[in-house]
Amino acid sequence: MLLLPLLVTSLLHVALAHDAQGGKCLTDWRHDDFDVVAAPFFDEAQARLSSWSSTDKDSFAGVPVPPLEIRPLAISGPSNNRVDLTFFADGYLQDERDKFFADAARLAEDISGNQTFNTVKPLMNFWAAFTPSKESGVGVGGKPKDTPFGLYRDGTELRGVYYAHPKVAGAACASLGDQCDYPILLGNDPLYGGLGGRFTVITPSLANGALILRHELGHSIIGVGEEYDGGFAYFGPNAYANLSEPVPWARWLTHEKARVERSVMPMQDYAWALLNTSSPWTVTFTSAGMYARHLVRFSVSGMPDASDMRVELDGEDLGQPEAQMCNAEILEFGDEDEFVSKPGHYSLYPTFSQTNKTTYRPTNEDCLMRQVTTPNFCKVCIEGLWLALLQDVSLIDDITMTACSSLSSSSAINPEPKLTTLRLHLVPLAHLRTVPAPPEVTESYSITWSKDGEVLHELANKTEVYVEQGRYAVEVQYKTSEVRVDREGRLGAREEVTVECA
Ligand SMILES: [Zn+2]
Ligand SMILES: [Zn+2]
Repeated sequence: MLLLPLLVTSLLHVALAHDAQGGKCLTDWRHDDFDVVAAPFFDEAQARLSSWSSTDKDSFAGVPVPPLEIRPLAISGPSNNRVDLTFFADGYLQDERDKFFADAARLAEDISGNQTFNTVKPLMNFWAAFTPSKESGVGVGGKPKDTPFGLYRDGTELRGVYYAHPKVAGAACASLGDQCDYPILLGNDPLYGGLGGRFTVITPSLANGALILRHELGHSIIGVGEEYDGGFAYFGPNAYANLSEPVPWARWLTHEKARVERSVMPMQDYAWALLNTSSPWTVTFTSAGMYARHLVRFSVSGMPDASDMRVELDGEDLGQPEAQMCNAEILEFGDEDEFVSKPGHYSLYPTFSQTNKTTYRPTNEDCLMRQVTTPNFCKVCIEGLWLALLQDVSLIDDITMTACSSLSSSSAINPEPKLTTLRLHLVPLAHLRTVPAPPEVTESYSITWSKDGEVLHELANKTEVYVEQGRYAVEVQYKTSEVRVDREGRLGAREEVTVECA
């Protein structure tokens, strides 16, 4: 721990080793298409901009659809009642087909196997759609290769990956109907890079593919903004701006009485373009000197080895940065009593935008919308995820019924009532999951049958009931510890069915 003296000017100094090259930054993508385009006029509805509406689908009529070989990766139910994520191949040759399916399967597993989208997986389907490319890989220098969607990098930098043929991608997704709610363009390149927005663009980079994917899906599916400092898109259930209004995540607060965790950001800088081996990058900033702790944070890329870089604060060597420098920030915090830094603590944490405007986020570092290297969302974002997915998914997939029949052979004089079996097909949550939810999550389904408005108590919680003719209604209520407030009743569903036995 280093105490910064009262109101002094400090010097942050970053030097590169002789043979290292400061590359452009991965996290730079957040300033590209998605955020720049979307941020200034974002609201919750617009945040869903990568979901396809039927009007989008119509607008690609007449655009030739590339050949698509579809394989299921993880299917939980019918596409008309699921949120479907579909990977499309770009820069994969015919003989790289198996590699595409393997890459897509690994990415789907990475974001849903035992983290990120794990508990909501029964509301989602994952598909892979292969189209062979004539050239392998992703274009560079702003020039796409001969591939269906024409993915390319602007320079040779490892950052944004753009698409030249959005209409083809749109037509491909539209041709799949319900099977493509969120199109993901997977560029065949081992290095990182990506883009958010209407199409999420990623590479199968082992280090970064899944990381970009889940963060961008956070924006597009949940409709949340950033939790990291230095951005400019702060909106949705994980953002709070006006302290005179009720706290949006009041139910998740660790302490009932809300307070702002004490911290400031005395310095932030996007410095990547300046970083080279001949001259170190240095910044001077003023600290109030009133905070017990501080954090120097960088994002760096194109750095083969962390030891290629050295960071000093007021001449003191801070050691090597965690990963890869494109932006640098210094935060100052109060001590643990004034600023709880431990994971799992829910409060009001100040987040400082690009223009140093302050909003608040729920946790210190628990969320992948803040720390892109973290695999999970914070609880506030997870709750938002449930509610967003359940906007498009009904908990009742279907009710089926067998033909009416009598229990035994009935006589003509004294006929037995004919009966039918009603089967309730629910989205496989709670006890119906094929893979159990993690132990820290408690969940349940409750099922209530009624006939002509009268509750049939003996049929409570049954998914299969044997009934005579009449009008039946079934009400389903799902409960999970991951959702504490459900104002719109999205965790409930109701269906009616009429049984007629002639
Ligand atoms: Zn973001
Ligand atoms: Zn979050």
